Amino acid sequence: MNNHTLNFRPHELFLIAGPCAIESENQMRQILTHETRPTLIRGGIHKMRTSSKSFQGLGDEGLELVKKLKKEIPFDFITEVTDARRIETMLPTTSIFQVGARNMYNYELLKELSRYNRPVILKRAFSATISEWLGAAEYLFNLGEKNIILCERGVRSFDTKLRNLLDLGSVIYLKKNTPFKVLVDPSHSMGFTQYVTDAALAAVAAGADGLMVEIHPEPACALSDGQQALNLNQFSELVVKLKKLAPIFEKELRM
Ligand code: PEP
Ligand code: MN
Repeated sequence: MNNHTLNFRPHELFLIAGPCAIESENQMRQILTHETRPTLIRGGIHKMRTSSKSFQGLGDEGLELVKKLKKEIPFDFITEVTDARRIETMLPTTSIFQVGARNMYNYELLKELSRYNRPVILKRAFSATISEWLGAAEYLFNLGEKNIILCERGVRSFDTKLRNLLDLGSVIYLKKNTPFKVLVDPSHSMGFTQYVTDAALAAVAAGADGLMVEIHPEPACALSDGQQALNLNQFSELVVKLKKLAPIFEKELRM
């Protein structure tokens, strides 16, 4: 696994999984050694929390931990970059940079990111129209970043039962009208563990190229977003289902 060779092919359904935030070595080891272990690992190190009092991530310490674990157990690391000044430090460890919903409109960050020839996951902002989202993607694209993965993570709606409204219409639209890969994040879309698997399966049927799912060895003890995390057994069950579903859409699961 090499930072510069991570490339998604059209027939692949890729599954990115990992905790909302990297919390400890023990947490990461449990994920990395589980029988259904993902190799495309997400994990926040600088968290954009709505409250400044909430856990903000391990920061540089988290990055060091990832570096250490990668030497022992190879994996690709996907993490959110919240500040252009951190790109260089994160570059050697990060296979795909994630731009979070709160930063989709941060055009200076997007312009900086376009200089590194590293895939970028661009999450949809809470209330962004598809046009605004594509406008943000254009900042990357026009400056040379061709490996753009758009991530639908649910939008704000009038409803209050779920965390967000999973817009599968956007997935269908983007696949028909743009050259970009489309990823769905069922975890932030639904907001509750019990709905994540069904939403993931629906996303595959809508044509998503991949999924990004939050998992945690002990969701009840998670420092962020535990209420929407799959535990490791639930993750295994999701993988079994995806392996059955993917061939129906002429895809093969890559994780
Ligand atoms: C995340 O994926 O860690 C995250 C914070 O999601 P979003 O930016 O979609 O809120
Ligand atoms: Mn989260």
